[in-house]
Amino acid sequence: MFENLSERLEGVFQRLRGKGKLTKDDVERGLREVRLALLEADVNYRVVKNFVDRVRERALGAEVLESLTPAQQLIKIVHEELIRTLGETPAPLDLGGSRPVPILLVGLQGSGKTTTAAKLALFLRKKGHRPYLVPADVYRPAAIDQLKTLAERVGVPVYDTDPTDNPVEIAKKALAEAKALGRDVAIIDTAGRLHIDEAMMTEAAAIKETVSPREVLLVADAMTGQDAVNIAKSFHEKVGLTGVILTKVEGDARGGAALSIREVTGCPIKFIGTGEKLEALEVFYPDRLASRILG
Ligand code: GDP
Repeated sequence: MFENLSERLEGVFQRLRGKGKLTKDDVERGLREVRLALLEADVNYRVVKNFVDRVRERALGAEVLESLTPAQQLIKIVHEELIRTLGETPAPLDLGGSRPVPILLVGLQGSGKTTTAAKLALFLRKKGHRPYLVPADVYRPAAIDQLKTLAERVGVPVYDTDPTDNPVEIAKKALAEAKALGRDVAIIDTAGRLHIDEAMMTEAAAIKETVSPREVLLVADAMTGQDAVNIAKSFHEKVGLTGVILTKVEGDARGGAALSIREVTGCPIKFIGTGEKLEALEVFYPDRLASRILG
């Protein structure tokens, strides 16, 4: 992940390191390359602009130009600003409120939503929670069976969804069931479609309205780059998100979505999916990712 961006930035800093003391022109030239590297990594142009502006403001100060190790200082600033762009600190799940705590997963088909529901259940179970899985995608009966199978694999009970029920009813009944079973978190897998459409948004909003989830998490595929960012934007505007789970991050050589989502939508990335295995879900740490990008 981020191979291209890391390599590009490494090249930029290598050239600056060879220079000893930097002039304003050196900094500008370096920034121009940083900008290109980010754009090539498919980072949103507005995010790139803000990023470069912030780095420039700090880099042209005495802190860098009068330092004995200007390239080092510049790298440090880029590192800090990357962390800032990525959201500073990890955003933990909000599991407050009465039990069972409802968590709504939304997103497009193929984003990894159903797999992520099971991954999240496993993650929470390992933390000592008593999760419950709720398949609420009645348009794709295979999705219900898929989640039931995955639930068994992660050792988490699953609601026996009646596909002739409507999703709002399913969510309501499933929560009552979760409560009766003494479960403390209910993860609801909503319907996805191939493209954003009104019906999907309206349904997600209706379920949200009914169950008042503590978390509404968008599951988005990192490999789709700026599409993932636009999808996040739409869902946030129409349904209201509390966070994003970015999947398939391990196969994303560029990192444009990861670097753009926070700043474009204002929603934190809470987890990243790093593989097909059900254990492959990690809490998202902005500082770790920034360090990885800079190699
Ligand atoms: P849904 O249509 O959004 O419910 O998507 P699925 O959960 O069925 O996942 C679609 C495909 O993406 C499946 O083959 C998953 O194994 C795969 N997948 C999900 N998350 C990840 C991930 O983090 N990394 C990789 N490599 N594959 C993933």
